[in-house]
Amino acid sequence: MTSENEQKFGPALLILGAPGAGKGTQAKRIAEALNIPAISTGAIFRQNMEDRTELGIKAKEYIDQGEFVPDSVTNPMVKARLSAPDTQAGFLLDGYPRTLDQAYYLREALAESGRELNVVLEVVVDFDEVLQRLLKRAEIEGRSDDTEPVIRHRLEVYHAQTEPMVTYYADRDKLIEVDGKGSVEEVWARIEDVLVENGLIEK
Ligand code: AMP
Repeated sequence: MTSENEQKFGPALLILGAPGAGKGTQAKRIAEALNIPAISTGAIFRQNMEDRTELGIKAKEYIDQGEFVPDSVTNPMVKARLSAPDTQAGFLLDGYPRTLDQAYYLREALAESGRELNVVLEVVVDFDEVLQRLLKRAEIEGRSDDTEPVIRHRLEVYHAQTEPMVTYYADRDKLIEVDGKGSVEEVWARIEDVLVENGLIEK
């Protein structure tokens, strides 16, 4: 069964990292290199907020506080996105799952079509560095959830809710840590090596 599925679906990847670890930028590069869609729940929410859809209005009250959007909204949204035909080529998730419950939901949702995550990358950066990066980004982009108290809260939420999930993937031998220090190019070079080592791209 596994070989059949491998033929049918491309690689399923997840990129993890604290807010400000630079995972969004790297996610785009990975998706481009593998020719698969990058699926960012944060980006989907922001687009919906901009378009003032019902989903966007619901999500905004949580996002602006640095809180997670409830699973009852987030999970079905991701499931619907993963059922789109472009995910046959594979996909890269960015920003989902963020909790153990979401990780279990994702495992079930993928299993329904005989899929599973193949590789989980964690971009590791220390607290002070991501705090500084986010404060700088706040000045440049002016995102509504990029004020200092909300940034601090998002980082705390990451440690409390997402780190236990990182352990879950580590226990299942899926986790690959990548040092997130340094420039975009330096981090990308490390990620590229990991993709080559795992047979996902050729150098
Ligand atoms: P991000 O761009 O990934 O930092 O996401 C921005 C915000 O969107 C987060 O602070 C959450 O409020 C919300 N969000 C994104 N992904 C999720 C998720 N998997 N579960 C719940 N809320 C999420």
